[in-house]
Amino acid sequence: MSRPSLPPVQSFESIPPPSDVPRRILVVDDDFAQRLLFEKLLLLEGYGVDVASDADEAIDRINEAPPDLILLDVHLEGMSGIELCGELRLIDELRLTPIVLVSAIYQTEEWAVRGLLAGADDFIQMPERLDELKARIRVQLRNRRDREMLEWLETQRNKLRVAALRDPLTGLTNRRGGDKALRDSLSSGEPVVLLLLDIDHFKLVNDTHGHAAGDIVLRQVATTLERRSRRGDVVVRHGGEEFFVLITGADPQLAATIGERYRAAIEGLVLSGSAGVGGVTVSIGVAVWTAAEEGAPTPERMLAVADAGLYEAKRNGRNRVVTTEAVSDASVLGRIVHPSIIPSPKSRGGVP
Ligand code: GH3
Ligand code: MG
Ligand code: MG
Repeated sequence: MSRPSLPPVQSFESIPPPSDVPRRILVVDDDFAQRLLFEKLLLLEGYGVDVASDADEAIDRINEAPPDLILLDVHLEGMSGIELCGELRLIDELRLTPIVLVSAIYQTEEWAVRGLLAGADDFIQMPERLDELKARIRVQLRNRRDREMLEWLETQRNKLRVAALRDPLTGLTNRRGGDKALRDSLSSGEPVVLLLLDIDHFKLVNDTHGHAAGDIVLRQVATTLERRSRRGDVVVRHGGEEFFVLITGADPQLAATIGERYRAAIEGLVLSGSAGVGGVTVSIGVAVWTAAEEGAPTPERMLAVADAGLYEAKRNGRNRVVTTEAVSDASVLGRIVHPSIIPSPKSRGGVP
């Protein structure tokens, strides 16, 4: 049996940190002897070296393989080194690439200022001081590595942040992310509709078809909920076979209808690749906060209201929606505004 095509689950994968590979340096100089001298010097230092004699050639080399550092002569035929430096600074791929300007001719302060302001990382006035040149290149590559390391750490941090709020099985927001979203939603001052969905007789799916089949069902239910949801809604795997959908700013009058749409979507879902599980149903408790009164309920209370509705839905035969308006009165959870009474062929649960 073929496995269903599901969107890839985003899991945390760590990328190795930038390693100390030999660096490639692009030497751009119109003077043949000078170019040769730099090339030899840098090869002896263990760098890989590419050479170019003008701006066009430099661009060609960069397109072939972006270098780790560019050693750029201020004086070039055609486009000057300073102009080229300004152009290169606009290329995103070179954002970490140091550009070191060298000049044997333009040795005034004014040229150094122009070069640095054009985006060069260093300006070396006397290329005959070769040890200094080598040291300056080393410093620039060290700085580059620090920047690479910072970028890598930033990427890792963002990935971890995203992974910490994702459920690895379904790719949905996990309980932690869901609870935070619910808190934010309830403090937004907007009406809140919270649908708490629980798969009916799911234990039977596992017991009859195996845990792996159960996992596939969970993923397909998750995908269906996600596809049903609108932009801005948050679909959460709250645990086990329980999900919630959080809708901020929806018309509270529509809460029961929205719940019914989700119920019907799951009932209509034809499962594939799940070792013979034909379909499943869900019971749904919907909690509505109309935002009409002072003081929004706590997330715990909102969930308790939805959970009470869910319990009612289970008690009344499953595969149905019970909608409750959350109220501020602490002694009661809320008022059931819409118990669904949907006669359904699968109303005793959807496990075939
Ligand atoms: P009800 O209609 O009353 O909700 O019955 P139920 O069988 O769905 O409820 P119950 O709470 O008895 O069983 C939930 C089952 O969900 C039991 C547990 O093994 C299963 N489950 C929870 N998490 C996972 C999971 O990640 N994968 C699989 N395959 N099963 C899971
Ligand atoms: Mg459950
Ligand atoms: Mg269940």
